Amino acid sequence: MHAGVVQYAGPGLLLLSSERLPMLTFSDEQNLIRDSVAEIGSRYGHEYFTKKARSGGRSDELWAEVGAAGFIGVSIGEEYGGGGMGMAELSVVIEELGHQGCPLLMLIVSPAICGSVIERHATEAMKQKWLPGIASGEKRMAFAITEPDAGSNSHKIAVTANKDGDVWRLNGTKYYISGVDESDAILVVTRTSRDEETGKGRLSLFVVPTDSPGLSFQSIDMELIAPEDQFTVFFDNVELPADALVGEEGKGLLQVFDGLNPERIAGAAIGNGLGLYALEKATKYANEREVWGVPIATHQGLSHPLAKAYINVQLSRLATFQAAKLWDSGEDASEAANIAKYSAGEAVLEALDQSIQTHGGNGLTREYGLADMWFVARLLRTAPISREMILNFVAQHSLGLAKSY
Ligand SMILES: Cc1cc2nc3c(=O)[nH]c(=O)nc-3n(C[C@H](O)[C@H](O)[C@H](O)COP(=O)(O)OP(=O)(O)OC[C@H]3O[C@@H](n4cnc5c(N)ncnc54)[C@H](O)[C@@H]3O)c2cc1C
Repeated sequence: MHAGVVQYAGPGLLLLSSERLPMLTFSDEQNLIRDSVAEIGSRYGHEYFTKKARSGGRSDELWAEVGAAGFIGVSIGEEYGGGGMGMAELSVVIEELGHQGCPLLMLIVSPAICGSVIERHATEAMKQKWLPGIASGEKRMAFAITEPDAGSNSHKIAVTANKDGDVWRLNGTKYYISGVDESDAILVVTRTSRDEETGKGRLSLFVVPTDSPGLSFQSIDMELIAPEDQFTVFFDNVELPADALVGEEGKGLLQVFDGLNPERIAGAAIGNGLGLYALEKATKYANEREVWGVPIATHQGLSHPLAKAYINVQLSRLATFQAAKLWDSGEDASEAANIAKYSAGEAVLEALDQSIQTHGGNGLTREYGLADMWFVARLLRTAPISREMILNFVAQHSLGLAKSY
């Protein structure tokens, strides 16, 4: 019944395609998840989302409801309170919330990155401690890799974790860390030693409770209209017990990739959902608005760019669900996840821009809920991984071209 593209039409939304035009197919279970998430998301809607964001509020009610329904933890193992499914299902959840105008950035961070890394690498005790809360949404975990002087170059990470008897001591600064104020802990990428030959840092991961003495954070003024805030985080001799280490000391870079591919897939899903949101609004408006006695949709100057934007959103969705499928089957998802993230970052901007254009002056008003999403969409070219670093990956690993840096 639900083999088409977007089968759910929330209040005021049109279907983008019919069952006559199936391109992506989903299982019955995935369609059920989409319908349920759409029902929740459409009850809150974009107005709720921007109202919270503009007032400095948080989307806690929506988060709690999505969590209580089992959707935040859909990819986490059943033995840890999750749904026992995978990134494909989490992508459905994230995409559908974006489609309803409620892109929740913390879904990329808490279940997708932190949940994946902890489930794959932490001790049983750490899994029991954190995963049930992450799955239900009652606990949130932020993720910190970016630093003022390291940026895209993780080898230069300068937040150090040094052993001091039985404990670890963390020092240094991370920035652009999402949702620290709403999180119980941060998964922090640190340097625990250096490779003598290459000088590159050997990285290790730690779960650091946000109320740890010596940990402080300061919000960064952003133009982004999103309920989540971004922070600079300071670690001043933060003491951690030995069991705060995730997995093996010095193996953090390898381990963190088990979070970064899900991060890319989840980031792509947000972009795809927002792309659908923008295109649906454009379609509805173009079919209704008349300025020359016929709907503006009849002008190919409008319908063709929308069709092109739709094609690119659909291609990006294909790449995203293919990446999720590879990830879920334990295969190497790195190329697919990078391609999905790149495609989504471009497709969402094209879709949103063309939707704004379709709406004429109305496209730039608050009432139509498009222009306010510009920076969230634009973010996807920069984060979770920048467009250039994806191109570097593809140049080197897919094409075998010489490394440029
Ligand atoms: C809203 C928001 C939320 C974020 N949330 C988090 C979070 O929760 N946790 C976290 O750890 N980080 C987070 N980030 C950080 C984000 O991942 C980084 O901003 C991003 O990876 C780019 O790093 P940078 O800002 O240090 O840029 P830089 O590394 O300084 O790069 C600047 C520019 O140079 C380009 N560049 C750098 N190196 C190369 C190269 N070798 N070849 C070609 N081009 C290159 C980059 O692509 C970029 O365009 C967030 C950022 C934003 C804006």
